[in-house]
Amino acid sequence: MPENTTPITNWAGNITYRAARVARPRTPDALRDAVTSATRVRVLGSGHSFSTAADPGPGGTLLRLDALPPALDIDTAARTVRVSGGVRYAELARALHARGLALPNLASLPHISVAGSVATGTHGSGAGNGPLSDAVREVELLTADGTAVRIGRDDPRFGGAVTALGALGVVTALTLDLAPAFEVEQRLFTELPLAGLDFEAVMTAAYSVSLFTDWRAPGFRQLWVKRRTDEPLREIGWGTPATGPLHPVPGMPAVHCTEQGGVPGPWHERLPHFRAEFTPSSGDELQSEYLLPRAHALDALHALDRMRAALAPVTQTCEVRTVAADGQWLSPSHGRDTVALHFTWVADTAAVLPVVRRVEAALDGFAARPHWGKVFTMPGEVVRGRYPRLADFRALRRALDPGGVFANDFVNDCLGPLP
Ligand SMILES: Cc1cc2nc3c(=O)[nH]c(=O)nc-3n(C[C@H](O)[C@H](O)[C@H](O)COP(=O)(O)OP(=O)(O)OC[C@H]3O[C@@H](n4cnc5c(N)ncnc54)[C@H](O)[C@@H]3O)c2cc1C
Repeated sequence: MPENTTPITNWAGNITYRAARVARPRTPDALRDAVTSATRVRVLGSGHSFSTAADPGPGGTLLRLDALPPALDIDTAARTVRVSGGVRYAELARALHARGLALPNLASLPHISVAGSVATGTHGSGAGNGPLSDAVREVELLTADGTAVRIGRDDPRFGGAVTALGALGVVTALTLDLAPAFEVEQRLFTELPLAGLDFEAVMTAAYSVSLFTDWRAPGFRQLWVKRRTDEPLREIGWGTPATGPLHPVPGMPAVHCTEQGGVPGPWHERLPHFRAEFTPSSGDELQSEYLLPRAHALDALHALDRMRAALAPVTQTCEVRTVAADGQWLSPSHGRDTVALHFTWVADTAAVLPVVRRVEAALDGFAARPHWGKVFTMPGEVVRGRYPRLADFRALRRALDPGGVFANDFVNDCLGPLP
């Protein structure tokens, strides 16, 4: 099993994983050995999280699955795909599209791994679209004693098994439900005042809708409307059509973005904002995101608008999306139709953290849940109070990982130590 001891960081470079060793097994047997011989293990997906979710801590093993033989088995008749733990959305989406199939939704970028994304509740936008974990129908886990466990949708443990923060075991494979391939066109609008915003009407106007602001001026800079071409075109009646392609971060080149201007194209080349071949977002950044009941969207946006003077100096862009309620116990959109308030900050932790705290204070009355993969400072007991099925997850964790081999500081802080 190849190992190295060079420190490795996440995509953004704000986290250096404190692992004693990095294991990259090449065979299933070597993977089992790496897990059963370790006292602490965390799997690293594509490393796009800004939080310490994947950090095993000092003495632990950081496990990478990218040297294992990849699996991407499409069952066209059943409309399912089974992917191994290291597969990324970009390669999956291309393979599905070639077979006339699709995933219902994607995040803003296709560069991320499927297992790492669904582990943190990653989502795209769309009032009728749940998080990416909604597509999962079965999880295959390798637990600390080397046992392979399959948990399907009919299993009572399923609610805790997908968005599990890597705390139950190694996700060796996932089976996902698919849809027939579809086309999407995206149109952008600018000059969008907050005053008089009919949030529900705008955010339900198309399959996937995003609003952007940098808080430097009142209102929103951009509205991205992604319409399935098999669904009717609804009038937005708000804002001015963009005159050319735009990047959500002002000043960044729009060539990094998927095609705009109402040109129809395949689902996987329109639903993400960023093209697989380019650096997504600005590439020099931190991110935070808070998910709260959609009914609070306008009040929360006005609360943020009142602190524009604090937000503007550290914000590259702020994106507002919607996510439909889902059933994963640890999903930030669990049990409630959600508005997701995302911040792409400047890459300056010292300048950003005080503003993150102020955002959390401003959103406190709205029962906001932080994105597990992004920067937050909310204390664990506050986070825990926002998850009504936490006790069920803790029981599942104790059953599958009684020795806490897959625990780390992040999981223990957020969810509490093993009961
Ligand atoms: C530029 C950029 C844009 C983003 N856009 C979005 C967006 O549109 N929507 C959104 O919701 N989020 C977004 N994110 C956040 C991102 O989707 C999440 O952080 C996601 O978890 C990243 O997946 P990953 O594979 O990089 O996971 P990692 O950061 O590598 O890991 C995340 C967690 O999953 C665990 N894990 C990973 N693989 C496995 C496995 N096989 N078995 C067990 N545990 C595993 C890790 O231990 C860790 O706890 C964005 C991030 C970046 C950098």
